Amino acid sequence: MAASGIRGVRAAAEGYTVTCCDIDDEAVDLARANLARNDFDGTVEQRNVNALLHESMFDVVDLDPFGTPIPFVDAAFSTTRNMVCVTATDTAPLCGAHMQSGIRKYSAVPQNTDYHPEMGLRTLLSSLIRTAARYDVAATPICSHVSRHYARTYLELDHRATEADSLLENLGFIHHCEECLARRHEFGHYPESVPESCSTCGSNRLLTAGPIWLGPVADSEFTTAVRTQLSPEMGSINRADKTLSTVAAEIDTPTHYDQHRLCKQWGVPANSMDDFIDDLRNAGYEASHAHYSGTAFKTTATVGEIREAAAPDPDN
Ligand SMILES: [Zn+2]
Repeated sequence: MAASGIRGVRAAAEGYTVTCCDIDDEAVDLARANLARNDFDGTVEQRNVNALLHESMFDVVDLDPFGTPIPFVDAAFSTTRNMVCVTATDTAPLCGAHMQSGIRKYSAVPQNTDYHPEMGLRTLLSSLIRTAARYDVAATPICSHVSRHYARTYLELDHRATEADSLLENLGFIHHCEECLARRHEFGHYPESVPESCSTCGSNRLLTAGPIWLGPVADSEFTTAVRTQLSPEMGSINRADKTLSTVAAEIDTPTHYDQHRLCKQWGVPANSMDDFIDDLRNAGYEASHAHYSGTAFKTTATVGEIREAAAPDPDN
């Protein structure tokens, strides 16, 4: 997964001792060439990364595979000291669009909803955190985002079984109404109160997803600290800055809403996101943008409360 070695070179440039590992001949040659080209020492290993991880201890492990990271996470969590960073590009299984594949890979039931990027991220986090717990490790997400077609998360490790136990208390289930988009969540290792019909609209078109991660997907302080490290020579600074500032300011609710989807549902034209969010705040609810899309937002208000507080007037 070292590929060109670019991330290894980046870490070496910050003064870290780096080991790049890849199974591919060309990738290994390229990673070596790129370290040398930048005058950095670094180890490049051509082997199965699971074997390397089982034999060596690293402070930070960055898994960046094509598709699901699941084949590598046991080895990573069983030996890494401080942090595991994970990319997943198999968003269709994660968000429930390919549900059976999601169930097989992640030992959870994801559901295809209007907040699919967040469903995918939380399905991934659930699986990663449960995997770490098998090794008595608490893996707390301190920064996560879903960008374009991948999910990315940074997990800080604590090697105490009691900490792993308390982290698992943030797993649970989401009950979602496909008719009116109302949703509620419950914590626990199994769903205790699966509703037969929606308490908001009475529909029986209900989906239950889980166990997914219901806790925070990022630590605001850490994410803000990362943001202060961005510098103008980084080609992607504008995108990175926008993502990090939005993630840092997101309120901690397990799902987001899509403003356009709601307005379509209500048969009203969508207004500006800032006005919409201000209306929610002025009505006394917590509300924030969400980084998942330009029309994504988070709030403590229910669907009915959102409509009452912020639905634009259809005559405007
Ligand atoms: Zn409903």
